[in-house]
Amino acid sequence: MRRKKLLTFAFWGGILICVKKGMQRLPDLTIRQPLYFFSDILYSKRGKGETDMLTAITGVNWGDEGKGRMVDLLSRDYDIVARYQGGNNAGHTVKNERGKFILNLLPSGILRPGVVCVMGGGMVIDPAHLEKEIAALREQGIQISPENLKISDRATVCMPWHVAEDGLEEDRLSASGSQFGSTRRGIAYAYGDKYMKKTLRMGDLVHLDEGRKRHLATIVEWKNLTLERVYGAKPIDLEEAWAWCKKYGEVFRDYVCDTGAYLAEADDAGKKILFEAQLGALRDIDFGIYPYTSSSNVIGAYAPIGAGLPGHKLDKSIGIMKAYSSCVGEGPFTAELAMTEEEKHLLREAGHEYGAATGRPRRVGPFDVVASRYGANCQGADELALTLLDVLDYMDQVPVVEKYLVDGKETGRFPMGTQLDNAKPVVRTLPGWRCDISGCRRWAELPQAAKDYVRYIEKAVGRPIRYISVGPDRDACILKDGD
Ligand code: GDP
Ligand code: MG
Repeated sequence: MRRKKLLTFAFWGGILICVKKGMQRLPDLTIRQPLYFFSDILYSKRGKGETDMLTAITGVNWGDEGKGRMVDLLSRDYDIVARYQGGNNAGHTVKNERGKFILNLLPSGILRPGVVCVMGGGMVIDPAHLEKEIAALREQGIQISPENLKISDRATVCMPWHVAEDGLEEDRLSASGSQFGSTRRGIAYAYGDKYMKKTLRMGDLVHLDEGRKRHLATIVEWKNLTLERVYGAKPIDLEEAWAWCKKYGEVFRDYVCDTGAYLAEADDAGKKILFEAQLGALRDIDFGIYPYTSSSNVIGAYAPIGAGLPGHKLDKSIGIMKAYSSCVGEGPFTAELAMTEEEKHLLREAGHEYGAATGRPRRVGPFDVVASRYGANCQGADELALTLLDVLDYMDQVPVVEKYLVDGKETGRFPMGTQLDNAKPVVRTLPGWRCDISGCRRWAELPQAAKDYVRYIEKAVGRPIRYISVGPDRDACILKDGD
């Protein structure tokens, strides 16, 4: 009897081990998808043993590379997803079996039951926008509670006057054609005031006392000087501002906490943390195309700091890189000089290149080796995901910007300032594949010309491409498992 029990135990144990090993080896994400259901029942998190503890998902280009969709896919192997910078000027579009979602402030991991999301201290949070974003997601059936959303008490509050100032200044600049192309959501003004030490943090909203009120009064007095005397705008009323703080303090009371302590404990307990970036390396305040950058450090090295783990190092950086170039707003964008208006129109339509946060048409151009290699280096990308490859299906010949012409000389180095403004693209064309690749789920299924394009980029950028996405859906992703 005992022997029979032992044999039964060994039999089922063997089956479990085989299933687990099999799941981890299957390269095809689509085939694995229906199997997740069973594997998730058997094992709390599939393949987590092989996942790096602290991983950042970052943008290699100018943003909109498809970071949200990659976080949505890869978050299955993580316990926590943390945003570490930026505000609601981000727009991450995610399509999965639960629907289509647009996320501005919330980490993309919020769509995965069981994952805890953290909004880190490096972020700028407009609580009015966050309230609406949460309500919209709840309407779409997503559960959001203090159990799965934790907001850093150190995160900077984007106050209503930051949004107002952003609009007033952009309007003033527009009159002379020198606007920045800001999303007008007040992010630069909130970050500016953070460094001026003249704004509040989320933790202040939930602990409003006399000290906070005195600080707010000095801010309001100072801010009104600019609003009234520079812009001739309506001044801020202190009591209204105080009531606003009280309102959002109540709304988010249960969500605001010391996320640094939460993450440190989670890390000690062996939980796996995925950091989610907004925008791309070329928009980083220090390394990007200043002054046409965002106002924060978007690079992966900042992820542990902005999320709340300043003493930790990343275990892995995954750079998300687009198969062509796109950019929202003003500033130098060499790649667009490599295409005619007609070619850009075709590419914009093929890639549906309209901003998720603003609906603005994005500027487009061919893949830019010079900018992408620089971006991938800034991100310290251990591996890359090449996204939106299917968008190039229609091209007979696929152009790429291989070098820049700067001061009459060809260079592979990404320049700054006037050299960047005047750089001209040196273009090379590669054969197109002229067929629909959106149904491909394995590297072997891609047409030869598409494989050659991926290999060319991999070599030119100098870092391994591990994922290739061929459609916006969660499963439309290929694991590059061969050469
Ligand atoms: P993020 O800001 O980096 O998260 O990127 P966005 O979401 O702003 O922009 C990427 C857009 O491309 C979204 O509309 C996605 O749904 C879409 N997308 C992502 N990956 C693919 C892909 O492989 N193919 C196609 N055709 N669209 C994709
Ligand atoms: Mg985006």
